[in-house]
Amino acid sequence: NDAPDPAETIFALSTAPGRAGVAVVRVSGPRAGAALCALTGRAKPPPPRRAVWARFRDPASGEALDDGLALFFPAPHSFTGEDVAELHGHGSRATVRALLDALAALPGLTPAEPGAFTRRAFDAGRLDLTAVEGLADLIDAETAAQRRQALRQMDGALARRTEGWRDRLVRALAHLEATIDFSDEDLPEALLPDLLADVAALSAEIAADLAASPRGERLRDGVHVAVLGPPNAGKSSLVNALARREAAIVSAIAGTTRDVVEVHLDLDGFPVVLADTAGLRDAGDVIEQEGVRRARARAEAADLRLVLLDGGAADPLDPAVAPLAADPDALVVLNKTDLRAPSALPALGTGGRRPLGLSLETGAGFAALLAALTDRVRALAEAGAGSPPPLTRARHRHALADTVASLDRARAAPLPELVAEDLRLAARALGRVTGRVDVEDLLDVIFRDFCIGK
Ligand code: GDP
Ligand code: ZN
Repeated sequence: NDAPDPAETIFALSTAPGRAGVAVVRVSGPRAGAALCALTGRAKPPPPRRAVWARFRDPASGEALDDGLALFFPAPHSFTGEDVAELHGHGSRATVRALLDALAALPGLTPAEPGAFTRRAFDAGRLDLTAVEGLADLIDAETAAQRRQALRQMDGALARRTEGWRDRLVRALAHLEATIDFSDEDLPEALLPDLLADVAALSAEIAADLAASPRGERLRDGVHVAVLGPPNAGKSSLVNALARREAAIVSAIAGTTRDVVEVHLDLDGFPVVLADTAGLRDAGDVIEQEGVRRARARAEAADLRLVLLDGGAADPLDPAVAPLAADPDALVVLNKTDLRAPSALPALGTGGRRPLGLSLETGAGFAALLAALTDRVRALAEAGAGSPPPLTRARHRHALADTVASLDRARAAPLPELVAEDLRLAARALGRVTGRVDVEDLLDVIFRDFCIGK
């Protein structure tokens, strides 16, 4: 059984390990207050949520270990919902080790497993699953847009939306159950058509959020951009130039262009995973063929394709390259404009577009390319503040897709009992988003809404 034992008091370093001005050690569980007292020599914990200065001592030997602040958060007004103590000491390996060793020696205290504090907060009903995920994303956020999205989910935007849908569904189900149970009495006959219209509206609303769903996952994982083009067009030079920009998160350049090389960029707050690919052409040797195969796979998986044409080639739009440049969704760039102007190329594809001009040699066009790339990335990843909260995980998408499928089955079901069964399945699927799966509150709704009193 994996379920944590709530009688156990757990402790862990909550700040990043290493060397820092301050380190926070957190203790949660019934013995948290006693642990605080044991290390600080206090007779009782400090007043709730009030920081007090203390010298931390080894309870066994009395040796001074460190000094700092101690705080006590009595249940249920704490992160985990249990008694929580925090010791804010100095952030060296030695002080942290000494505090952790002293806590481990106390009776009833156990080192926390990863995620154990948040697990307790979830078990205590203080956080739903989407808030747990938002918190995890906030801790992992690397760009401003990721931070905003994570904070919004942590604050409950997605939970409120799915719980709102679930409430509507449970209410509809309650009315339906009532007509089934009391159909020969005084409940309205014409309930079913109205109810099915509500179900159709709900299904359409959820389906609309699902249709917009790639945005949230893109912002969380990074917008994947593949740089494609013939050998020698300047793909590696471009990826390097972008990675050298100030805001680049990492320049993880390794291997050769025969493989796929990824660079992580921060474009105006939006995370981008930029992949340099092997030149696309009819490859000779086996290794090069493999590179081309990977480049094609990468191009298919990418959210955006940046096609780089070689202005130094005899024909920058030769038959191997022309189909890439004709992709209406691609950002097409002609490099080496120091050698050939974009106006010297025929218009691309159907739209009569000209490629963006670029010379990595002189730097001409680089700022405009960066701006165009940022605009495209923003459009792919942005969920406006007024828009529905984005779905940030495949898990959300699957649960909502199951919900829509059940709702649509309900609409086609021939008997009220079967409609009810599908609505129940839809409510269960919705409940998976926040981690609440029961439908037991159905009865409460019946009695609250109907006052049947029989
Ligand atoms: P890749 O094969 O597409 O990755 O191309 P590379 O980035 O390796 O560049 C191929 C060659 O083109 C290198 O010798 C670069 O120095 C050169 N090159 C890249 N950009 C420019 C440019 O804007 N103008 C000129 N004249 N040469 C360039
Ligand atoms: Zn290259």
